[in-house]
Amino acid sequence: MSIHKTEALVLKTMPFRSSSLIVTFFTPRLGKVRGVVKGVHREGEIRQAGFELFTHAEYVFYEKKRSDLHLISDAAILESHHALRDRLEGIAYASYFCELVDELTEVQDPHPKIFDLLKESFHFLPVIPPPRLETVFVTQLLREMGWLPFLESCLQCGAKPLEKGFFSIGHGALLCERCRSKDTAALPVSSSALAVLRSYSKDALADCLRVSHSSAIEGQIKTLITTFVNYRLGKVLKTRKFLDSIRTVLKSA
Ligand SMILES: [Zn+2]
Repeated sequence: MSIHKTEALVLKTMPFRSSSLIVTFFTPRLGKVRGVVKGVHREGEIRQAGFELFTHAEYVFYEKKRSDLHLISDAAILESHHALRDRLEGIAYASYFCELVDELTEVQDPHPKIFDLLKESFHFLPVIPPPRLETVFVTQLLREMGWLPFLESCLQCGAKPLEKGFFSIGHGALLCERCRSKDTAALPVSSSALAVLRSYSKDALADCLRVSHSSAIEGQIKTLITTFVNYRLGKVLKTRKFLDSIRTVLKSA
């Protein structure tokens, strides 16, 4: 067994036997890691705090060679992110971000940029309108996973630059006006929405969040990105359904 000491963000926890937890966390250099924390309830709240959802901490774990479920021994909290857990909106969005990262990445496949994206998003979540953060987060996550459609030219005829176009969910690409017949279900993308989407796919998270756009543009991008993610995953995530179910409550709050 080799010992690792690494910072990480907690993506998911699950009770295991009477006093243990299975924790999935995301690290900068090792990617997603799963492990068991033994005796977490016996030793009281302080030990448990290091393994709460969304916590950013430094963890010590023993890597098992024959299993991808390792043994986690210690957690030193860097940021508890309790502000995210204190509000329904924070829980709903942060849980969606975590489930997306969990679903899209493989165990121990390093993606340092995804770690940074998630860490930064947790900082922005309490201070930026969450729907805006969501569209930028998902676009940049898709980019890091290599899933983001090519946004510069038409898939069929190569026409470029495209001012506006049609987003083919099935092909994961843009089509121009003339080639739209290639996929009649392709969703229209206006020139302003396309420009914003291009900036989300290239610029730093903080720069994307600095500029606000009309709700029509935000809405158009969100529909495209969410439909595309659901299609690629082949399902609607639990946390996505939860987010949609509480939307009316959040709007009237
Ligand atoms: Zn074309």
